[in-house]
Amino acid sequence: MPQRILVTGAAGFLGSHLCDALLAKGNTVIGVDNLCTGNTNNLKHLAAESKFSFIEQDICNAFDPGKVDFIFNFASPASPIDYTRLGVETLFVGSTGTINTLDLAKKYDAGYLHASTSECYGDPLVHPQVETYWGNVNPIGPRSVYDEAKRFSEAVVMAYHRYYGVNTHLVRIFNTYGPRLQVNDGRVISNFMAQALRGEPLTIYGDGSQTRSFCYVSDLIEGIVLLADSEEHLPVNIGNPDEWTILECAQEVLAVTGAKTEIISKPLPQDDPTRRRPDITKAKTLLGWEPKVSLRQGLENSLQYFKDCVK
Ligand code: NAD
Ligand code: UDP
Repeated sequence: MPQRILVTGAAGFLGSHLCDALLAKGNTVIGVDNLCTGNTNNLKHLAAESKFSFIEQDICNAFDPGKVDFIFNFASPASPIDYTRLGVETLFVGSTGTINTLDLAKKYDAGYLHASTSECYGDPLVHPQVETYWGNVNPIGPRSVYDEAKRFSEAVVMAYHRYYGVNTHLVRIFNTYGPRLQVNDGRVISNFMAQALRGEPLTIYGDGSQTRSFCYVSDLIEGIVLLADSEEHLPVNIGNPDEWTILECAQEVLAVTGAKTEIISKPLPQDDPTRRRPDITKAKTLLGWEPKVSLRQGLENSLQYFKDCVK
């Protein structure tokens, strides 16, 4: 049955794709965003969509969109450059912002799904990462503004479930990419694609041996929608287990763009995780979900978007 759904962080990369997927299923969607890292360009194709409305709002300030059936809480700076620039704001959105949206879910007896992250595992000592792993996080390092905000969010989401019976869900999202990724957010795919298309050197931090596992956005959104419909309250990893070194990732970008630029080395940021790969057994078993889009295919799907961004 179509529902009235609130999406926070709607003007961001993932939030805007989520709005599209929910509208395609016939739902009414209210998007909320304070535009600190997002952009209304990501929603401009919905201008004539009568079932979509947008509210410019910081979720750290209490707000009430009226009765909703479900809340997707995606508001938070997400790239290392953004959350370093907005460190205190990131801690507030992961604490006060999450509590404000949970209070709405409690008030309206709405379902609730929170966008958590593989960063909850920190620099993981267990590989691949299973949901039962508690992680290896530096609580006071430069990434802590994000990691600890997300870990607090998970704690408060579980508390609203346990103490108040709110129907909550937690997705631990692994590195996701695709069209609408902000071209200047410093993430590896946006940096490499923009650098390659501008004919600039690709900047590898450290020796490029650190790994990430890249999920294409359509796969991620499909998994999240399935999780929202499930009975699962504990965290579920959604990501692509195909693991790449950052050097291999740079080579894929060069292959897809046809760029001939060189690869240069820059200093590795402090506490940069050395490896990351989701164990997706739980998502496969519980949701019957697994990703379909390879890194090569996903980069090809994203090429025109990045070309439009850099021209
Ligand atoms: P994004 O920066 O494109 O989107 C985040 C959105 O939240 C932006 O539009 C921003 O303006 C908005 N926002 C931030 N603080 C807000 C506030 N206080 N009030 C209202 N809106 C606010 O990033 P994204 O990649 O789309 O990430 C979306 C969510 O998914 C984030 O919670 C992020 O932590 C999580 N996540 C993303 C990835 C990924 O690989 N993209 C991985 C793990 C987790
Ligand atoms: N990285 C890189 N060059 C860049 C941007 C990022 O080598 O221009 C590396 C970064 O050090 C990290 C990985 O790529 O090891 C992924 O970085 P990103 O910022 O995309 O996300 P993270 O997974 O670290 O949150």
